Amino acid sequence: MTASSAPTAWRPRDCHAHTTFSDGVLAPKALVAVARERGVRPSIADHLSGDVGAAVASVAGVTGYLDVLERLRADAPDLSVSGEFCWHDTLWRDLPRAQWARFGHTVGSLHAVWLTSGARLHMFARGWPDGLDAQSYMDAHVENLERFAREMPVDVLAHPTLLPIPLRGRPLQELWTEAREERAVAALRAAGIAFEVSNRYRPHARFVRRAVDAGVRLSLGSDGHTFEQVADLAWPLATAREAGARDEDLYDPHAHGRRG
Ligand SMILES: [Zn+2]
Repeated sequence: MTASSAPTAWRPRDCHAHTTFSDGVLAPKALVAVARERGVRPSIADHLSGDVGAAVASVAGVTGYLDVLERLRADAPDLSVSGEFCWHDTLWRDLPRAQWARFGHTVGSLHAVWLTSGARLHMFARGWPDGLDAQSYMDAHVENLERFAREMPVDVLAHPTLLPIPLRGRPLQELWTEAREERAVAALRAAGIAFEVSNRYRPHARFVRRAVDAGVRLSLGSDGHTFEQVADLAWPLATAREAGARDEDLYDPHAHGRRG
């Protein structure tokens, strides 16, 4: 589904914030109140994954999560009910179709990728496989991103530039070469998946501009876990504007919803 025009009273939307259901501090109701105070439309996307600490980790858990958020939405119709699923985890594949239908939008992320050796490397692991060089890793990372875009039925890719801890001190532009950015953007574009401009894992300007130029929507996300962090979209919004994004280039769960 695509919108033919931008909403008239446009407000930033926080498409990626966490509550007490996973590793966030605020209860869902409190998060909605904070977002309102900050002039941001709320969305809740807790971790729904069997491979993240303090996440909703089972199909039954997802049912309970959706039940609570749907009750909350009865009083807060501007709330988009969402969740962040790990590409490498099985929970998203196990969810019955009826569960998928209950989300306003869905978020997927690469918290781990498969290497060509068959091993899996987690973004929050501190160790580094023997004999693996950074450029080979990045090739595998982009291959995983392409598979993610082909296979995972989500609407937003969370924090597209998140990399394993041992690589995080390096400039993103050197690891995300222009050729890799091009492949990532083409994969998202072909699938109709939005590129999150995350306030937690901030993408570099060249990548954001490439997404906009290719017609990939940008999703503004705080990835907020605390009172201070949730609904803080100042940096993502400014970055989107600098990249040339207009209102209608921004992903809006209420206007664009689910793809397919
Ligand atoms: Zn994440």
